[in-house]
Amino acid sequence: MPAVIVVHGGAWAIPDELAEASVAGVKVAARGGYSVLRRGGSALDAVEAAVRSMEDNSVFNAGHGATLNTDGEVELDAIIMDGRTLGSGAVSCVKNIPHPVSLARAVMEKTSHTMLTDKGANLFAESIGMSTVPTDSLVTEYEWREWEKHKHYVTGVMEDFNSQWAHDTVGAVALDHAGNVACATSTGGIRNKMVGRVGDSPVVGCGGFADNCIGAVSCTGHGESILKVTLARLILSHIERGLSVADASQMSLWFMGERVLGAGGAVVVSSAGQWAATFTTERMAWASVENDVLSYGLDPKDVRKEKLLFE
Ligand code: ASP
Repeated sequence: MPAVIVVHGGAWAIPDELAEASVAGVKVAARGGYSVLRRGGSALDAVEAAVRSMEDNSVFNAGHGATLNTDGEVELDAIIMDGRTLGSGAVSCVKNIPHPVSLARAVMEKTSHTMLTDKGANLFAESIGMSTVPTDSLVTEYEWREWEKHKHYVTGVMEDFNSQWAHDTVGAVALDHAGNVACATSTGGIRNKMVGRVGDSPVVGCGGFADNCIGAVSCTGHGESILKVTLARLILSHIERGLSVADASQMSLWFMGERVLGAGGAVVVSSAGQWAATFTTERMAWASVENDVLSYGLDPKDVRKEKLLFE
């Protein structure tokens, strides 16, 4: 089974000043995740590695570089899902965790639950010895400036999934050589969200879903819209009834636009190895690797390719 990874760095109106860094960031993440698969690693390890790389990259709204809520605080959400078992783990509203995706994985593997939130999630992180950082160290100068400029949530959402407002949730899907799929999604949410707001990203079937019998999806975009249409599962339902991954993604995003006026994007891989990166926002940075060929893009219909060399 040829291994595949597809990653995204968030669907929104990415301004030109962030375009190059966003594309560079998804390329690095896809290559990193693919190296795991190439060595015979699991889809789960590959999506975690890819998302951790983007959580470390402050151009993206996940981990370091996260957006701020109305109180000027960071609250992070993440999910990871294993298509082999349908096991998933998620965290929401966590503060001083640089890699929420790894905490989500620990919830999946070390607890009897699927999601921990806020203080409980932080207590759990402490109990397993996960390293924490001062929350302020996750906030960039860019985010402080943008937060000061755009203090109105609703106008921002209208403009940006729709405009330059919320940004850069990250996600990855992968298929490994053994035929297992996995997904992971991590975000700081939407700028100026209410304290305690949880978006689609950590909710199973919405921000992500993975099932070895069908495929895996990671979503991005206006969270409240994605939740209304359970976007990740909707895409997989269309694949289940025979649509190609590209048609299934396009049809589901089109439906979200028509039915609830929401825009967004998704990366998808089927258990047969078909993949797609699709969006209805102005831009989405994405990258994929299969057979050592890296594909990537930012604007609609923009697909660039490079052959990767490995030692
Ligand atoms: N879906 C995320 C949320 O609503 C935001 C994004 O994808 O940029 O929290």
